[in-house]
Amino acid sequence: MAAFTAALALSVTGGTVASPAFADPPETDKTPTARGYGGAVSTVDPEASAAAIEVLGEGGNAADAAVAAAATLGVTEPYSAGIGGGGYFLFYNAETGKVGTIDGRETAPAAMPHDAFIDPATGEPYRFTPELVTSGVSVGVPGTPATWERALDEWGTLSLGEALEPAIDVAKRGFVVDETFRQQTLDNELRFEAFTSTSSLFLPDGDAPAVGSTFKNPDLAKTYRLLAKEGTDAFYGGPLAEEIAATVQDPPKTATTPLPVPVGHMTTEDLAEYRALDQAPTHVEYRGLDVYGMAPSSSGGTTVGEALNILDTVNLSEMSTPDALHHYLEASALAFADRGKYVGDPAFVDVPTDVLTDLLFGKERACHIDPQRAAVKPVDPGDVSAYDGVCPASAAAPANEADTENISTTNLTVADTWGNVVEYTLTIEQTGGSGIVVPGRGFLLNNELTDFSTVYDPADPNRIDPGKRPRSSMSPTIILEDGEPFLALGSPGGSTIITTVLQTIMNRVDLGMDLPEAIAAPRAAQRNTATVTSEPEFIDAYESELAPYGHELTPSGDSFTSAAEIGAATAIEFMPDGSMLAAAEPARRGGGSAMVLEPAR
Ligand code: GLU
Repeated sequence: MAAFTAALALSVTGGTVASPAFADPPETDKTPTARGYGGAVSTVDPEASAAAIEVLGEGGNAADAAVAAAATLGVTEPYSAGIGGGGYFLFYNAETGKVGTIDGRETAPAAMPHDAFIDPATGEPYRFTPELVTSGVSVGVPGTPATWERALDEWGTLSLGEALEPAIDVAKRGFVVDETFRQQTLDNELRFEAFTSTSSLFLPDGDAPAVGSTFKNPDLAKTYRLLAKEGTDAFYGGPLAEEIAATVQDPPKTATTPLPVPVGHMTTEDLAEYRALDQAPTHVEYRGLDVYGMAPSSSGGTTVGEALNILDTVNLSEMSTPDALHHYLEASALAFADRGKYVGDPAFVDVPTDVLTDLLFGKERACHIDPQRAAVKPVDPGDVSAYDGVCPASAAAPANEADTENISTTNLTVADTWGNVVEYTLTIEQTGGSGIVVPGRGFLLNNELTDFSTVYDPADPNRIDPGKRPRSSMSPTIILEDGEPFLALGSPGGSTIITTVLQTIMNRVDLGMDLPEAIAAPRAAQRNTATVTSEPEFIDAYESELAPYGHELTPSGDSFTSAAEIGAATAIEFMPDGSMLAAAEPARRGGGSAMVLEPAR
């Protein structure tokens, strides 16, 4: 494979990748929709999409292009994803017709105690934000480098070094800072100021980089070059592993920070022992389509799948919009009740994945939906040991859980000319992760372990245990129709990932929207809570129509971030004429970037 510095002028919908590729930051104007042939990509960022298109244009496949795009997102979206984090990778293999998955979730260190999130000074849990999330104790062993290597070994054609080339170029020559990047930096100021390594990288001269300035990350370029040369052994072993463990155990705190920064327990052995895991996907049939998702340790596949099974019992397309939305919200609440009760890392917990994705179980859960009236939340979980699909439905004791997931992460969708498809969600947990940059290495460490339940309860499938993977909501999804790709989609957004993917599928499959409309439509998330978390536009459009059912809508967003958005989806639809329709957000997170290799044929 020729080096990516080779001159190559590619005409892509959404702007032109200049020749020589990657010498300068590309035009920042983004196009959220692109339709064409030969390969397609959708990400939140034009640099990442351009990297994927570059790889596809050079003859790489979807797995190669996905790794190139993900590595570039590690540069341009460093607060959402990178080698300090983890994620879940889905691959539709056109040759075998099968969907495979890689679980690259971060993992708790072997020495993590059950009371890791309890402040020894008070005996009470650390305050979640900003104290617990800004800590060494929240850092899980990163899975992203292992995921990239595994995906390339299993499905790709490039070496890791080749796939990292576009990202190395972007890290070296820099990218243009946009409003979102500056705002995310400002949102994290207190946390970034807490560490010498982070403030010098992301708050140069004491301020967030200005909009329009060029942000370079030579340290990250060097780290990527190291991985390119030596493979991921240089991450999970050697000096870098020692530095990661040392940083977690003794974060480089500034003298003036008011944050306590609880230290972590990660060792070089934890890093050496990390493995990305091959896994069977979850599968449900929805309106005759085959929907594949991510199995536990993510709750994405089971929860989206169960909700679809519940909705499959009714005909949404014949309902009024408020009736359809009411069913969507109720199905989601029921599936979230089961998520809380049953889903955790299957290496530690007996997760009834088959039952949760069983149509019969979904049918019985659907008995709880009153077509006229919203149930009082939280609703109880179902009984996975006794169900027959017949009303009345059995119930189990409720789970005790609080939703502490944050809203960050990034997602990408890639397809190639051979028909292979990748759906990949990756994260460092919340925007800015733990806030801790490994000194001199240019990347942030995750705070994914905050996805565990804060307080230890032996009955909780998501309790902290050493060596365990915290439950995720990431829901990369690939949908086939008659064995061929129909739609691939995913989103960031903590537990609203699940509702975003579910709502987008419903919008596209049932409510008569095309893919760009399905993504742009205002969102609401019912996660088995008293009120429905809703974007302001959703409240404006549906509040009065949903009130008669008893749904109370409350605005999304929190006091620590400036965004009131739910999710930031990317997707590709495979059109009947053989073209690919790549779609990203038109507005959320400043808009995403869709590109195709050949706009016309
Ligand atoms: N930690 C979340 C999860 O695994 C992802 C974070 C986010 O999307 O904001 O589900």
